[in-house]
Amino acid sequence: MRECIFCFGLKENQIFLETDFFKVLLDKYPVQNGHILIVAKEHRMSLKELTDAELVDLIYLEKRLVTIIENHFEVLGITVLQNDAGVMQQGTHFHVHIVPRYQNDGFYDNQVLEQHELLTDNLIQIITEHY
Ligand SMILES: [Zn+2]
Repeated sequence: MRECIFCFGLKENQIFLETDFFKVLLDKYPVQNGHILIVAKEHRMSLKELTDAELVDLIYLEKRLVTIIENHFEVLGITVLQNDAGVMQQGTHFHVHIVPRYQNDGFYDNQVLEQHELLTDNLIQIITEHY
């Protein structure tokens, strides 16, 4: 937590919008112009840790940002992206990426993953049993 840039590294002038539970700023390393981050005010490391009030605040904030960008810019749409737990970048905490998208922008072109065995039947069974 001490090394968390979102707890200790954000400057007030980076934050252009706030809600009760989240701060909104431009990504320091944007994959596209206008790449925005929604950052939890509390040091949360997973979606699982968010309170119900935070979840509600988050989804409304996401909707507002998507709506405003799509209504005011010539984008094809928005990708809302959120890493969780161990795949979150080290030294950060819970955040959501808002990425403006364009036709043929190559967003997925470099995403070729090393495949791991995950039996789809088993996945569906486990999710439906535990939901
Ligand atoms: Zn933090």
